[in-house]
Amino acid sequence: VLFNKYQELKGNIRVMCRVRPVLDPSEGEEAKISFPDTKTSSQIDVTGPEERSSLGTVSRKVIPFEFDRVFDPSVHNEEVFGEISQLVQSALDGYNVCIFCYGQTGSGKTYTMSSPDGMIPRATHMIYDTITKLAEKSWTYTMEGSFVEVYNEELHDLLTPAKEADGKKKLEIRHDEARKQTTVLNCKTVALDSPDKVEAMLKQAQSNRSVAATKANERSSRSHSVFILKLVGENSATNERCEGTLNLVDLAGSERLKHSQAEGDRMKETQNINKSLACLGDVIEALGRGSAHVPYRNSKLTHLLQYSLGGNSKTLMFVMVSPLEAHLKETITSLRFATKVH
Ligand code: ADP
Ligand code: MG
Repeated sequence: VLFNKYQELKGNIRVMCRVRPVLDPSEGEEAKISFPDTKTSSQIDVTGPEERSSLGTVSRKVIPFEFDRVFDPSVHNEEVFGEISQLVQSALDGYNVCIFCYGQTGSGKTYTMSSPDGMIPRATHMIYDTITKLAEKSWTYTMEGSFVEVYNEELHDLLTPAKEADGKKKLEIRHDEARKQTTVLNCKTVALDSPDKVEAMLKQAQSNRSVAATKANERSSRSHSVFILKLVGENSATNERCEGTLNLVDLAGSERLKHSQAEGDRMKETQNINKSLACLGDVIEALGRGSAHVPYRNSKLTHLLQYSLGGNSKTLMFVMVSPLEAHLKETITSLRFATKVH
């Protein structure tokens, strides 16, 4: 409902902000973040870093940000999902939907997306329930999942163990312009015909992600993971057919990576991460402006998601932030990025 209301106002892009809780007192001092408008929960005020005036007085400015929805640290995954469930359902009506988690490493992207009670398991479970109900109205749906990683501007299959992947053909993006659909060639797809299969798939993706990297956490903070759920429905009574896609994307850490500290391969990797996040911002911004030219081809991620960004597709970005004073600068940078695409 919220989505439809918003759509009239701003088109198909929405941005929501989530602030994770302090996990442990040993994490450090909390930043001054407040949520002034409790009624509509759409504002977040962040007290910025110290500034010294020309007279030498030190002060801190309060910087307000506004989004479609703001989740304070007390909000659980269930409530977050409540805000996106309509959007998830629209994939069953034939829409292409993209949901992103953006934010610095440690801000709660993976917790929100892939934890056992996160958006991926909740979305797939809700889709099962809806499919079961739609069966009474003569609809039969197939659900097919794939899970890929974009690392260093290359695509990798997270459902194929790295050892096996070595001998296999590279993944390739194929767009079907007429149908506005994308397939990833040589990528494993799994028929998700029971909720258990989702769990098994998530576990496999997780373990492949770790096996592939010597420093697993580092790799996952430097790559984008994309869960792609294809839904095809056919109605035996009316012969209607609809095809929709739900893409759930856990983006690479948005922390500013400094070129000066890296050399060689590492430097290229760093540039690629900065570039692909900036490209995503450019694409969403161009779509929001209604620009005729949308630069999808500038990065692997936007190329992959081309038909799920723009057109009559629906996009939601979660900007995740840390509650800690030590992360204040990154928090403000993330919120500014999110404001830009908003
Ligand atoms: P990211 O994927 O952005 O690097 P994570 O999702 O791994 O960050 O979150 C960092 C840590 O914070 C993890 O230990 C995670 O369990 C915890 N965490 C994140 N968000 C929440 C939350 N809303 N409630 C409780 N713990 C959270
Ligand atoms: Mg993560």
